[in-house]
Amino acid sequence: MSESTLRIGVLYPEVLGTYGDTGNAVVLCERARRRGIDADIISVDLDTCVPEDLDLYTLGGGEDTAQALAARKMSDGTGLKRAVERGAPILAICASLQVLGQWYEDANAVRVPGLGFLDVTTAPQGSRTIGEILTTPRIDGLTDLLTGFENHGGATTCGPDATPLGTVIRGTGNGVNTGDGACDGVHQGSIIATYMHGPVLARNPQLADYLLSQAMGIAMTDLSELTVPGVQRLREERLQAVHSEVGN
Ligand code: GLN
Repeated sequence: MSESTLRIGVLYPEVLGTYGDTGNAVVLCERARRRGIDADIISVDLDTCVPEDLDLYTLGGGEDTAQALAARKMSDGTGLKRAVERGAPILAICASLQVLGQWYEDANAVRVPGLGFLDVTTAPQGSRTIGEILTTPRIDGLTDLLTGFENHGGATTCGPDATPLGTVIRGTGNGVNTGDGACDGVHQGSIIATYMHGPVLARNPQLADYLLSQAMGIAMTDLSELTVPGVQRLREERLQAVHSEVGN
């Protein structure tokens, strides 16, 4: 690995890989490599300290027990905290969104302290949301609708420092009881968090490129044009699926 290699972290895939979210790192790595940019995936398992100097971090979703274990491990070390403090881009999905917040309550209403990187709190919403989700992004520079699959029992409320990632067109996102309108996810500092599985970056290449450009410290328009066969088809198929789901 050369010094200029882009290092993309996947945290705790043993417990945060249940929903296929480790695919986000694969997408980032592939989109870099296909442009001739050296990139590698650094898998950080439960027995390893989180390195503080990676270029980009991805964290996936998980069931309540797995999530609690990941939360404990994440708060053990200082690697992730230091990465947040220096503004490294971080993508957190579902359970990880909840863990990076102030606190979350699991399905049994047990309150677990979070890492406090995001100004959000999460409590059970009373039912489980499972299905397609579609939102309009609220980040400057993102113009394509965001598509994903959600599967969660928690509802998340954003505090004043947390900006929602997207406005919900279909689906639930941050939840039914949150009172902050229909939105999904959080954008705060260098952290992007969402309830979208998919993996979300496989369905939303523009979001992947946004994260890559942040990691490289360049404008998104400075990344060369990249069309990956099949991605457009996947998007079209998923955008159709969201409209044909019963109850949406
Ligand atoms: N256990 C959490 C919930 O149900 C997160 C689930 C997930 O990551 N998909 O809200």
